[in-house]
Amino acid sequence: MIDYTHDPAAQSWVESAEDHPEFPVQNLPLGVFIPADGDAPRIGTAIGNAILDLKALAATGLLPDALGAALAEPRLNALFALPAATRQTLRHALFELLTDAAQEETVAPHLHPAADCPLTLPFAIGDYTDFYVGIHHARAVGALFRPDNPLLPNYHHVPIGYHGRASSVQVCGAPVFRPNGQTLVPGAIKPTFGPTKRLDYELELGLWVAGANPLGTPVPISTAWERIGGLCLLNDWSARDVQAWEYQPLGPFLAKNFATTVSPWVVTREALEPFRTAPAPRTAGEPDPLPYLRDPADAATGMLAIDLEVRLDTAAMRRAGLPAHLLSRSTTGEAMHWTPAQLVTHHTSGGCNLAPGDLLGTGTLSGRDPAASGSLLELTQGGRNRIELPGDETRTFLEDGDRVTLRAAARREGFRTIGFGTCAGIVLPSPVN
Ligand code: CA
Repeated sequence: MIDYTHDPAAQSWVESAEDHPEFPVQNLPLGVFIPADGDAPRIGTAIGNAILDLKALAATGLLPDALGAALAEPRLNALFALPAATRQTLRHALFELLTDAAQEETVAPHLHPAADCPLTLPFAIGDYTDFYVGIHHARAVGALFRPDNPLLPNYHHVPIGYHGRASSVQVCGAPVFRPNGQTLVPGAIKPTFGPTKRLDYELELGLWVAGANPLGTPVPISTAWERIGGLCLLNDWSARDVQAWEYQPLGPFLAKNFATTVSPWVVTREALEPFRTAPAPRTAGEPDPLPYLRDPADAATGMLAIDLEVRLDTAAMRRAGLPAHLLSRSTTGEAMHWTPAQLVTHHTSGGCNLAPGDLLGTGTLSGRDPAASGSLLELTQGGRNRIELPGDETRTFLEDGDRVTLRAAARREGFRTIGFGTCAGIVLPSPVN
């Protein structure tokens, strides 16, 4: 529910939060940071240019007792295993501490300068699933491979997805090694093995699961949104030449399992309440979802209004001091064909259990306009059109030294804009050839 923590007029006594484009007191994202003195990783919240140490704050008795044990952990899994109502007391307590000037003297000693504190993966990720709900991406990629039949007939019925690889999910800033793999060069009869020549990114959101459903217990659509604890940015790095050779008949494998980068801050479900909106209506001729994926509340406010962007800078651009080049912008409302709740319900509809800290990728979130595409595969039409960059460079796919940075913000008139921080990674050469 929207409440006093979303009041756009609310101000924190942390001065850098006042005009902060991403982390005003209305956001309060959760993450795991390493204090500058090298102490053990601990849970914190971003406020302006600072990080508030929630482990230390809980130890002082300033947070609800029911949260103390979970906040002493070095990951968010235990916190996201708590009942939703208990978790929501954290947002209210933090908001009150950070907006009440009388608390400054007690709380300020637990603030750390964000610039001095590395951020780590927020969860021990048990499982990672990547969906394919960006309909304009699915249509554009389908058209490259099947010009006459870009969108397969199951697309309007099934939230398409596949089970990904949790072990190679890494946090913003970790390097991405160019993977080796099998590819079939056009015109060749036999495949060859070596570094991918078509390394790409995919602009996605990650949904962090909260709570647990036992094996054999589907999550009904009416309560599925409660199972999303928060969101992050997600880059599903992809080797397109490997993908084209290996994906039939079972789908992505090594083309996707070498790296997935997530942003370190978890923007909570509670923070996103003002930005809930109706999903885009299905157009004429598109069938309605089956009843288990339909819910009046989800149809009214099940989508989120989030603006997304991708930027690229190359090693030469950084040496020349050139700013990162904007590759594309898109929005979730236009891109997503299924809501987060529908993803949870479909994922569990056969009885699959989801655990706290499981990660669900949305799939590439491209806009309708080709210029709003969330991957190079689409922006370059399968490598046919070169992208011109500042400094006289061009690209079709990523080269070593290239850095891809994803950003996102939730905006709505009458509310403070909140941001997601960054999700960045630099491509390094293949470690073994
Ligand atoms: Ca993907």
